[in-house]
Amino acid sequence: MRDTLIQPSLWDAFEKRTCFQFKTWLERELDQPVELVITRNRISMLTIRKVEKKLSLRMNEHFLNAPTPVIKALSTYLRYGRRSAWAVIQRFAQDIPTHAPGKGREQPIRTSGRTYDIKQIYREVNDTFFNNRIDCAITWGRSSPKRKNRRRRCIQYGSYSEAQRLIRINPILDRSVVPERFIRYIVFHEMLHCDVPPVMINGRLHHHSAEFKRRENVYPDFEDMKLIARRLLHELT
Ligand SMILES: [Zn+2]
Repeated sequence: MRDTLIQPSLWDAFEKRTCFQFKTWLERELDQPVELVITRNRISMLTIRKVEKKLSLRMNEHFLNAPTPVIKALSTYLRYGRRSAWAVIQRFAQDIPTHAPGKGREQPIRTSGRTYDIKQIYREVNDTFFNNRIDCAITWGRSSPKRKNRRRRCIQYGSYSEAQRLIRINPILDRSVVPERFIRYIVFHEMLHCDVPPVMINGRLHHHSAEFKRRENVYPDFEDMKLIARRLLHELT
């Protein structure tokens, strides 16, 4: 039995954790028996109960593959009841899609835009910068309604949801005035989020960690990309 346990130092290396591994890890962290049930419940993502002094957890399957800081926050919360740790868990839970794939209001994946094929760009970036090891979905996002009389101060060009393993690229970029190399950089940035998990410092989750910045800094023409980002802010709004 013992060798099936995950050593804490190897925790990050496991992409698919099993319920048993999770339970064993938690029991070791908390030094007490834990009853763990993995659910597909999308309304209550995490339920914590104490049944006759035994800790009982029911949690959504997405938690199994949550980034390490989220898992650590869970153990910190269970041990000390810290609010800051709970906030980290909550943020992750809010990100879990509330509809089963293919059902209801979940956003459909759309990769070929009017000007750019985002899947093609994703493949190139994966090959050039990540040795093809990134495995997540990508889509053009939904366009947000235009606001009248107000210039936007910033545009979120892309986002990455860890719970959904999904990159969304702002469809505002799907225009010929936007150079393809800029989209490639945005896709790279979001894929880097997939590759470099966030770290927790003083109870706060940092998505742009030192490691993230170090890796982003070596991107070709990185300084140039920042200039384009600023220029586009004026051109696209
Ligand atoms: Zn980012």
